[in-house]
Amino acid sequence: MSRVFSIAVAASLLLASLACNEGGSSRQTRKAQGTTSPGGPCTTNCKPNGTGETATTLASYMLKPEDLKKYSPIVLPYEEPGDSPESLVSFAALSSVRTALESNSNKIMALKDLLPGRTIEVSIIEDESLNAAANGWQQVMVNSGAVKYATEKELLTVICHELAHSARNHTAVTMEFLSTDQKAVEVWSRHERSGNAYLTKVYSISEGTYTHNSALFAQAKADFAAFKEIFEPFRKRQEAEADAVGSMICAKAGLPVADFSGSIISFLSKIDAPLPDGTIGMSELKDGDVVEIPKDLVWDFVFQLDSHPPNAQRALQMKTLSPHLTPFEVASSPVATTWLKELVSARAASNVVALTSFMPPKTLNLKTQEGVAIKLPRKSCIEIPRHID
Ligand SMILES: [Zn+2]
Repeated sequence: MSRVFSIAVAASLLLASLACNEGGSSRQTRKAQGTTSPGGPCTTNCKPNGTGETATTLASYMLKPEDLKKYSPIVLPYEEPGDSPESLVSFAALSSVRTALESNSNKIMALKDLLPGRTIEVSIIEDESLNAAANGWQQVMVNSGAVKYATEKELLTVICHELAHSARNHTAVTMEFLSTDQKAVEVWSRHERSGNAYLTKVYSISEGTYTHNSALFAQAKADFAAFKEIFEPFRKRQEAEADAVGSMICAKAGLPVADFSGSIISFLSKIDAPLPDGTIGMSELKDGDVVEIPKDLVWDFVFQLDSHPPNAQRALQMKTLSPHLTPFEVASSPVATTWLKELVSARAASNVVALTSFMPPKTLNLKTQEGVAIKLPRKSCIEIPRHID
């Protein structure tokens, strides 16, 4: 008898393209299941990858001190990744926090060292998990869970990380990579073709169910593995860059590099709090298992990219780069201090109290464009699709 895992739940609401980093590529046509971008949302982190280990050697995709020379200017002229961004609906209950985050983010991006700057739009997404994302335009999305469970300083560092994705035009760069790098084009098109062929056979649009079939999955899995091999180091490099450039951005606002480093690592460790029992991921599915999942989420559930470096690598990179990042500090800049103060007031106005101990939510609450709220086991949150083609 088939095991049936129900992932669907009722409720309602929004969503817009949280496509993030690969926001632009979500617009590439995928005929089959209304599927999503190859990268999924560019989040600060997506899956539990904090092994608790410490790294002693930086992976090749991480930044070395000599790489920092090329970040002048820190902020590149804005490169539109394509089309116009979809509008984002922000969580009304946290509107004062949203306003504070947005106005202060724009104060940061207007600092003379960060010109040409950006016009940043911040939205708060009603999602109890800790995370934030940037899409390919000038939008930053912060989960309500991050607003509730992160400290003010952690939120500031997370936003600097997301601003860095925008500052370096990561979506446009990704699209260029996937359309011009010969090997990337080849593996991406094979992955897209066999992935769509597989989902056409195993995903029922009318039922909203995915039925696992390991024999049919074999080819799609192999093609996906080839794509991962090329694409994941590319994406991990961008995340490494967002940490380094994010610390430069925060430093220009007056936040010491050591504070950035400590806060981003503590935020990541909260994301990586132990998983609750009973969660499932693709690797645990057996033939005949059925997963109820909306069609716009199934692609990224089945093809889960590991886009972020392990936390130990991120911590080691910050430690290695820190002495070389301190020259970016502008101690006299009052912007970070103002940012933190205004966020305290805004959270008080929204009745949010920063919690000192964090209990991970049992599930991720995501909402699709069709207005269906779903709960996915946290373990399957790897590139959770939050964008709609
Ligand atoms: Zn990121």
